[in-house]
Amino acid sequence: MLNALSWLTSASRYSSRELYSDSASVLSAATSTGRCNSIVMKIREVLAKHPNTKLFWIPSHIGHHGNERADVLAKLAASSLSNPSEEAILPSRATVKRKIRAVLLGEWNEEWQLCKSGRTTWSFFPSVASSRMLNKVSLPYQVLQLFTGHCRLNCYLHRFRCSPTAWCAQCHADEEETVEHFLFWCKAFETERSALKSAVCRTGTTWPPPLAAFTESQRLIRGLLKFIIQTKRLDAG
Ligand SMILES: [Zn+2]
Repeated sequence: MLNALSWLTSASRYSSRELYSDSASVLSAATSTGRCNSIVMKIREVLAKHPNTKLFWIPSHIGHHGNERADVLAKLAASSLSNPSEEAILPSRATVKRKIRAVLLGEWNEEWQLCKSGRTTWSFFPSVASSRMLNKVSLPYQVLQLFTGHCRLNCYLHRFRCSPTAWCAQCHADEEETVEHFLFWCKAFETERSALKSAVCRTGTTWPPPLAAFTESQRLIRGLLKFIIQTKRLDAG
């Protein structure tokens, strides 16, 4: 259609021009303003330069002489091309962007799986895709601290010599005070934990849930915040 239009508009002896096509989709794309590929873009440019050119739709395969002739010529042209032109197979900008994004996300995810640091965060967000919820909700800082493990629990503080021990001093169990210990096992917070436990079980997940379960449900994030606030364990001392 672009070639036909180019030929028609280059013929200066015509003051007005009419182009007939049986392709409703091309006609619609050419006369709309939505996103389109580069060929349709060129058709629009030609039409803009030659406003006296009118496009018409005609039904195909009903014996219209001009239409039948165009079909034959199009088939001949297609069969004579050993390689379709690059222009014809160029994907749209949206497709290219989608593919680039998928590749980058894939690489990012691969790095995230192999990386040795940030493993507490990895437990909450085992894939890059799972972290997309961060764009949708605004998380309280206490929850974010827990997601990163960078909080006042002894296991973290001891790494920086801010606590004499990594062990839990709340329940005196022989266990490091990790995020999991705080959330699931510390006997000092059994009362506060009961509501969180019920919230998890209501989602159909067994206790203790994988940490990633907390980032899949806003209800569980609210339960998590309530638990953190009630225990006061992460409060600044
Ligand atoms: Zn404990």
